[in-house]
Amino acid sequence: ELSQRMAERSVDVIKYLMKEGQMMKPGDVIDADLAEIIATDFGHSVKRVSESDVELGIFNIEDDGEHLQSRPPVVTIMGHVDHGKTSLLDAIRNANVVQGEAGGITQHIGAYQVEKNGQKITFIDTPGHAAFTAMRARGAQATDIAILVVAADDSVMPQTIESINHAKAASVPMIVAINKIDKPAADPNKVRTELLQHEVFVESMGGEVLDVEVSALKQMNLNGLLDAILLQSEVLDLKANPDRTAEGVVIEAQLDKGRGSVATVLVQAGTLKTGDILVAGDEWGRVRALVNDLGEQVKEAGPSMPVEILGLQGTPQAGDRFAVVENEARAREVAEYRQRLARDKAAARQSGSRGSLEQMMTQLSDAGVKEFPLLVKGDVQGSIEAIAGAVEKLGTDEVRARIIHSGAGAITESDVSLAEASGAAIIGFNVRANKQARDAAERSGIEIRYYNIIYDLVDDVKAAMSGLLSPER
Ligand code: GDP
Repeated sequence: ELSQRMAERSVDVIKYLMKEGQMMKPGDVIDADLAEIIATDFGHSVKRVSESDVELGIFNIEDDGEHLQSRPPVVTIMGHVDHGKTSLLDAIRNANVVQGEAGGITQHIGAYQVEKNGQKITFIDTPGHAAFTAMRARGAQATDIAILVVAADDSVMPQTIESINHAKAASVPMIVAINKIDKPAADPNKVRTELLQHEVFVESMGGEVLDVEVSALKQMNLNGLLDAILLQSEVLDLKANPDRTAEGVVIEAQLDKGRGSVATVLVQAGTLKTGDILVAGDEWGRVRALVNDLGEQVKEAGPSMPVEILGLQGTPQAGDRFAVVENEARAREVAEYRQRLARDKAAARQSGSRGSLEQMMTQLSDAGVKEFPLLVKGDVQGSIEAIAGAVEKLGTDEVRARIIHSGAGAITESDVSLAEASGAAIIGFNVRANKQARDAAERSGIEIRYYNIIYDLVDDVKAAMSGLLSPER
């Protein structure tokens, strides 16, 4: 690599190293100091870059004001199990699929696009908040609008509340789809009233959240839902510059026996083209082919378009960000930098440097944050409300605790990923974390504290917050 960068023969570099008493072969690793000496001795000028320089200038979705053009909204469907998320995704797709030139057959690639009144809408094809928040925990925000599905013959249920809190934590606007209105027991107004208790104020109740009555099963009023999405999207004024190198996020990826690494990405800015060289997470590759959600090969993909990429060297992870870079050397550099970063992070976790509440507060405070996000799970609703009340009272003008989610029941993996995405600590009151949640917390270094006495809990939070209250700051 070093000889390549210097445009020297690798045997010459190896000979040089031998003279220095170092027996090395291509692929061995030398440190930066030695690399600098070698490069200088070979007559090259050396510029040291800091680690953070490596990634600098790769991700800049927010740039270029004057080149911005409207882009389709990206939508995720959330809600309680059995309220009809999958049915709704299927119904919308079957009714409105964008017909390709070759009239392809719909493929599951992790996201799809439909067209309404000549306007496109992108749906993430994995329903639920788990994938949504897992992506956010990896630093990617793919969703512009969340559809909250609530069955009209049922009530606001635990996962409905979770979905509301996940969407709110991500500042993603919601549209309420009241589903199953074909059922005789359907009572949409009951749903609307229940939502009020969770601070979701729908339009018909004088609020601002759009709500639409639908039946996924009978394909009723799906157009009404699409209209609401387009209306919300107009309010959001979503824009991107299509005339630049592409970047975006990985929706899903796997190793396919015949095709090698296949990753579905959502382009968020620019236009991705075949032949582009890109970095995705800590993998890289040259785009050999792009395949759309109808299984057709396409030459390019613009903003908000989901597309499968063939040609990556390895398999990135859902939620990894990707960006097109100028050449292979740069792609390798960034990928290697990220691999190193991941290794360092894993090593730091191994050495047991998990943050305490106090450390977390100090970090937040150093970052200028004056809000302490908490996720509270408890055995019964009554105790959770008591905790929420007590903890929120501890706040001052300078710093306060904010409960981003609370609920009854064990601490789950979904709680951990929400905590990770929001930089929150988790508090369990008379409940424990299940195995998956403990493993996830271990992996991501999320603090879980268990209590069975409210006073202990309040004292701890108070102590942690006082770290943020020092007068010098
Ligand atoms: P998910 O768990 O939220 O993805 O829910 P599903 O889409 O799997 O739907 C759960 C059940 O509700 C299935 O048996 C569906 O057939 C049924 N269902 C979904 N939408 C409707 C609807 O609009 N009306 C009626 N009657 N049943 C529905």
